Amino acid sequence: MKLKIIEIPNPLLRQKSEPIEKVDEALSSLMKDMLETMYSANGVGLAAPQVGILKRVVVIDVAHDDERPAPFLMANPEIIWRSEEKEECSEGCLSVPNQFASVERSYAVKVRYLNEKNEKVELLAEGFLARAVQHELDHLDGIVFIDYVSPLKRKMMIKRLEKQRRKAAKEE
Ligand SMILES: [Zn+2]
Repeated sequence: MKLKIIEIPNPLLRQKSEPIEKVDEALSSLMKDMLETMYSANGVGLAAPQVGILKRVVVIDVAHDDERPAPFLMANPEIIWRSEEKEECSEGCLSVPNQFASVERSYAVKVRYLNEKNEKVELLAEGFLARAVQHELDHLDGIVFIDYVSPLKRKMMIKRLEKQRRKAAKEE
C-alpha cells in the first residue's frame, strides 16, 4: 500500500521518533509499504516520520534503475562507528521535493539495526549508501538535510519550494 509522503514545514518532520519493541508482522508490513512508497516516488531512502509515523524505522535502496533492487529495511538503526574521512555531495529529500544542496557527511558508517525478520544486523556502509543511512537516521531525530546549509541558502530553497507549490496548485 502506498503511503502519503509529508513535506516541510509539516511539524511531524521535526519530532523525535520512538524506538520499536520488535519487528512483528505489522511493522514488517509497514516497512514494505514504505519501500513501495519510496520506489514509486523514485527515492533512495524513506524514514517513517516522512509518512507521518513517529517510529524509528527507515528503508533504503541505492541500487541504480538498471540494477537488481537491494533494499535495506531497518528498525532502531544506530550508527556505531563513523569514518574520520568526510565527503561533500549533493543531496535531496522526498520531503523537500526538487531541492538539492551539498552536505558534508562521514564517508563510511557502521550501522546496527533490526531487519524485517527482527534479526540484529550490522552493516558497514560506504559512499552513497553511507550518505543515505546518515540522511535517513537524521529524520528519526527531527533533522532535515536543509539544516546543514547556510540560513540564506535554506531560505532560498524554501522559497523555491513554495513557488513550485503555488505553480502546481494553479495548474490543477
Ligand atoms: Zn529525507
